[in-house]
Amino acid sequence: MINFEYTKASSTKTAIDASLKNNNAKFIAGGTNLVDLMKKGITAPQRLIDITALPLKNINSDAKGITIGALVANSAAAENETVKTKYPLLAMALNAGASAQLRNMATVGGNIMQRTRCSYFYDITMPCNKRNPGTGCGAAEGYNRMHAVFGASDKCIAVHPSDMCVALAALNATVNISSSKGDKKILFTDFHRLPGDTPELDNNLQAGELITAIHIPANNFNKAYYLKIRDRLSYAFALVSVAVALEVKNGIIKDVSLAMGGVAHKPWRLTAVEKFLIGKTASQQVFKDAAAMAMDGATTYEHNTYKIKLGKAAVLEALTKAVV
Ligand SMILES: Cc1cc2nc3c(=O)[nH]c(=O)nc-3n(C[C@H](O)[C@H](O)[C@H](O)COP(=O)(O)OP(=O)(O)OC[C@H]3O[C@@H](n4cnc5c(N)ncnc54)[C@H](O)[C@@H]3O)c2cc1C
Repeated sequence: MINFEYTKASSTKTAIDASLKNNNAKFIAGGTNLVDLMKKGITAPQRLIDITALPLKNINSDAKGITIGALVANSAAAENETVKTKYPLLAMALNAGASAQLRNMATVGGNIMQRTRCSYFYDITMPCNKRNPGTGCGAAEGYNRMHAVFGASDKCIAVHPSDMCVALAALNATVNISSSKGDKKILFTDFHRLPGDTPELDNNLQAGELITAIHIPANNFNKAYYLKIRDRLSYAFALVSVAVALEVKNGIIKDVSLAMGGVAHKPWRLTAVEKFLIGKTASQQVFKDAAAMAMDGATTYEHNTYKIKLGKAAVLEALTKAVV
């Protein structure tokens, strides 16, 4: 057994201060990812800072948007009336994740920070540059059915596993962060990183920084759909997922946001497809043309070439279901 210190923080400041006292410290919220990683020997923090007593469990909304505290449970966010009525894409994505029991424990901050489900990352007998930099990428030459088709590098082809994050990327959310230097915000699409030469870094959160909330700006989207394609209907990560939000007026697409999950190291916005769709009629032919370009620029590996056809079909289905 590997020993670690445990401390329960009573304020944001004490949590941040405690994390700065040990550079191998980790915050723990619901524990649904971190405890698994510790049990499997993938990570071994010397200090755990329990943040569950911090006052980060509120959901506040006004004309400018909605702010959801980092410690709000995934289930509570999905069941919130404002989320369901004004940001239904987020509710759909949250409900597509994990299982009911896990969603009751999992927090918004922990969901953003969850690590990849690449099987080579989880198997400590295999090489993995993300778990152990410099050892190689087992997946690149191995069984890579779940892996990235966009933005990968020769160091890592893992994907980000979250459903919630795909919706947040589409909804132009920001991540609110506190540290000893003060507060800051990072645009959600800039929060997670591509692997490049440093796949051990999943995101741009720095040591001593605590996620306090996410903010979603108000929008005029009147159609939304989250489609998740997976091996089982519950308790399975996305092979491919699509988050779509549209503003359609008199049959014309005034605005659209499209993001995919299961295809990259971060939620993947389809900006070229969005540009193509704006101003066009919300019709099957237009959606087919949009889907045909959705996977442009993708690079596949031995076992995941199916993601090209699946990705296009998923974009078409998500757009179609959003407008019915
Ligand atoms: C069997 C199983 C199936 C799952 N299926 C899905 C799925 O289909 N879709 C999906 O999206 N997810 C899925 N998940 C993942 C689940 O959503 C995450 O485990 C959960 O969201 C993590 O939240 P947590 O509060 O438990 O985080 P923890 O495990 O407590 O922490 C995870 C990480 O986040 C960091 N952290 C937590 N809070 C903060 C904060 N406020 N600021 C900074 N860092 C923080 C911790 O230090 C740690 O590194 C599944 C998990 C399991 C176990």
